[in-house]
Amino acid sequence: MMRSDAVMAEAELSVVVPSFNESANLRPLIERLTAVLESCARSFEIIVVDDGSTDDTLEFLRKAHDGDPRIRVIALSRNFGKEIAIAAGLDHASGAATIIMDADLQHPPEMITSFVEKWREGYKNVYGQRVDRGADSALRRILTQRFYQLFGSVGETRLPEGAGDFRLLDAKAVAALRMMREHARFSKGLYAWIGFKSIGVPFDVAPRQAGHSKFSYRKLTHFALDGLMSFTTMPLKIWTYIGLAISVFALGLASFYVIRTMIWGVDVPGYASLIVSITFFAGIQLLSLGILGEYIGRIFAEVKRRPLYVVEERLGLTPLAPDELS
Ligand code: UDP
Ligand code: MG
Repeated sequence: MMRSDAVMAEAELSVVVPSFNESANLRPLIERLTAVLESCARSFEIIVVDDGSTDDTLEFLRKAHDGDPRIRVIALSRNFGKEIAIAAGLDHASGAATIIMDADLQHPPEMITSFVEKWREGYKNVYGQRVDRGADSALRRILTQRFYQLFGSVGETRLPEGAGDFRLLDAKAVAALRMMREHARFSKGLYAWIGFKSIGVPFDVAPRQAGHSKFSYRKLTHFALDGLMSFTTMPLKIWTYIGLAISVFALGLASFYVIRTMIWGVDVPGYASLIVSITFFAGIQLLSLGILGEYIGRIFAEVKRRPLYVVEERLGLTPLAPDELS
């Protein structure tokens, strides 16, 4: 039975799947997902966000949508990155709860049953908790661990252990996320920032079904910086203390030289210490300027107030009015 979009918009569960060149994974994903959702939801929609794929992801999705109108599509005009693709999906999700998951089957669809159970118990923010990161390379695991340690010590928002993008959010939590139109998006931080009654459900990360990870170390570094800089201003403020400490030291050194000159007269050698201190302080100054630059660059990106993404095509979804998104 074909239902109209107006009726379909009242799906109980929405699933948002950001996809970038995932045509090989989408068929098995949608099959498994549909089976799970049919067993645990009264009605559902699967919103696949095509994040500017260059393979045949969109062609596949067109056919899938024709075959089953519960599969809906937002095709972005280019690759905007996973975080923005998720935001685009959340902007269109109309379910009483929304599930976010990767397209590569690293997030087992069968987990959704337990997410929904927790949601029905009253939790508004149910996150999948990775129990091990065996699916990632050893280097990535170590760097990730270091990043979370750093975030834990300087970040102004507490991130729950092992929580990622695989989660269920109540419509209220989705509404809160929709209000956050920031460009440098660190979703893991945003999910924690919005609050709500939260709970983790442990799961094993499966290996990627097909293809390879879309995150290079360069992308991950950029993402880590975005995460830190949107959740702490510590790197900006630390220079006050470093500057203060260096000034006190310099003052002490100056007094020492004055006294030494008065007692022993002028002393010419000191070339090495001069060069070392000049290069050291030039380095410190450039570093602090660079950190300022990182923040200013992000401020610049935000003040331009460009839209978060540009949609090229929607299948089975209606655009939300811009004022609904602000
Ligand atoms: N993804 C996306 N846009 C991007 C990069 C990735 O929508 O620019 C999607 C990708 O298709 C997948 C999810 O984000 O569904 C996670 O990506 P991936 O599996 O490459 O990351 P990893 O599992 O290595 O963290
Ligand atoms: Mg993956």
